[in-house]
Amino acid sequence: MPKDNPSSPGALSMEEHVIQGTAVNPTIYKQLFDESGLFFEFIHLKFDNFYGIKQCKHCRRFGHTTKWCPRTKEALCIKCGLDHPSDNCPKIFCINCSEYNQRQGTSFDVNHAPYDRSKCESYDKQRANLMRHTDYGFSSGVPG
Ligand SMILES: [Zn+2]
Ligand SMILES: [Zn+2]
Ligand SMILES: [Zn+2]
Repeated sequence: MPKDNPSSPGALSMEEHVIQGTAVNPTIYKQLFDESGLFFEFIHLKFDNFYGIKQCKHCRRFGHTTKWCPRTKEALCIKCGLDHPSDNCPKIFCINCSEYNQRQGTSFDVNHAPYDRSKCESYDKQRANLMRHTDYGFSSGVPG
């Protein structure tokens, strides 16, 4: 955290620099990075900019926009992303948390809409990845 405007920025430690520049706690960063599954997540994500998490309006998945949706020819529910008509959506369900649970062995709550970001734990993960991705300069090799 910034103290009182240091007169010589060069005197800052690496850790202080990271915190001031990004608001990311390096300890949290390291924990996230050490979770093996997250790296897989991270390399498949494409981001516009800071907090610009892409979410497809067609299939409701994170990481791509409708334009690039691999399932654009399928008629998917716009509410939950599953394969049924939107009008007949049986229940609120988060496809992203469900798939995250399957991939990562987590137990995120799936009883929310995929675009309800206040409840979506997989969204939080995406955002954490995005922050790390942005802060630590991995963006150059990832096409937008
Ligand atoms: Zn899609
Ligand atoms: Zn549905
Ligand atoms: Zn969710």
